[in-house]
Amino acid sequence: MSANNSNDKKRVLIIHTGGTIGMKKTENGYTPAPGYLSDELRTIPDLNRADFPLWDLYEMSPLLDSSNVSVDEWNAIGKVIYENYSEYSGFVILHGTDTMSYTASALSFMLEGLDKPVILTGSQIPLSELRSDGRDNLITSIMIASEGVAREVCLYFSARLLRGNRSMKMSADGLVAFDSPGYPHLAEAGINVKYNYAAILGRLEGKISYHPFAKVPIGVLKVFPGIQFGLFEDIMTEKLSGIVLETFGAGNIPMGNGALLPIIKKAFAAGAVITVCSQCPSGTVALGAYETSSQLKSAGAVSGRDMTTEAAVAKLYYLFSLGITDAEIKCLMEKSIAGELTE
Ligand code: ASP
Repeated sequence: MSANNSNDKKRVLIIHTGGTIGMKKTENGYTPAPGYLSDELRTIPDLNRADFPLWDLYEMSPLLDSSNVSVDEWNAIGKVIYENYSEYSGFVILHGTDTMSYTASALSFMLEGLDKPVILTGSQIPLSELRSDGRDNLITSIMIASEGVAREVCLYFSARLLRGNRSMKMSADGLVAFDSPGYPHLAEAGINVKYNYAAILGRLEGKISYHPFAKVPIGVLKVFPGIQFGLFEDIMTEKLSGIVLETFGAGNIPMGNGALLPIIKKAFAAGAVITVCSQCPSGTVALGAYETSSQLKSAGAVSGRDMTTEAAVAKLYYLFSLGITDAEIKCLMEKSIAGELTE
C-alpha cells in the first residue's frame, strides 16, 4: 500500500510485524489479521495529508503476537530494511510491545553501519479501538523516521524516543510503557520534537551491512535468595554458548557455600560466555567491588556493565553468529558496539 506519488518528499517504509497496534477483536481475544492494518491506516486523515511524509506499508507474513517473535523474524525484518535501504529515508517497525526491546536490540547489532532512523513502535490499545495510543505513536514515529536526526535503532512510545538497545518494557498496562532507565531519552515529543543531540549516536561513514543471526543456544539465569545452584549444573554446560546471569545490585551473587563458582568455571572451560547483568534497571555492574562478585570474575565471567538483559541476549546471538573466537566474544561483550553500554 502506498500513500501518494510525489517525488520530492521523504519516504518512509512501515514494516508491520504484528502486535496490538494492528490487531482485530475476535471471539478469542485480540489477534493479528492480514490486510486489516492497511484498512485502518486509510481511516487516519493525518497519514494522508499533503504535508506528511510519503510512506509505504510492508506487511510481514505471518503477523505475530510479539511473544512468538524469534531469531527468524529478527532476520526477516533486518533483511527487509537492508534490501530497501537505499529507497527510503527511514523505517518504522510496527511490533508488539512484549518483546519490542529485544527486537530493537537485535536490529541495532544486525544492521552494522546503519545511518538512517529505524523506529520501533506499537501500542497498548489497538488502532481500531477508542483511545488508541497507536495513532500518535505511529504518526510521530513516521515523522521522526523521515527527519533523519536520530540515525540509529530507536523505540518511540508515549512521546519518548529511546535508544532501542537501552529500552525496557516497564508497564504491562500503562500507556507510558517503555523507558530507558540507564540512558537519557533521545528526544521528547511535545509541541515540537526536542532532540537530545548529545545522547544520539554520531554519523557513520561507509556502507550498511546485514548480519543475520544463527539460533545460538542462550540461557538467562536470574539469581534469588536461597538459589540452589546445583540444580542448574546440568544446563550450564557446553550446551549453552551464552549465559546471561542476572545478579543483585552491582553484580553480586549468593555465595551458596561456593556451589556456583565451580559450575561457572566448568561452563567457561566448555566455551560458554557468561555475562553478568544486574537486576536493577539502572546503575552498572562492577565485578570485584564486593567479595560476592569478585569470584565471578576469577571464574571467567564478563561484565555486562549497564547493559539490559534484552541487549545482552541479542548481543550474544550476534557475536556467536559472527564466527569469531570465544576470547573475542568475551572482549566485545564488555565494549560498546551500538551504544548498548557505557564503557
Ligand atoms: N502481546 C502483544 C504483543 O506483544 C502485546 C502488545 O502488542 O502490546 O504482540
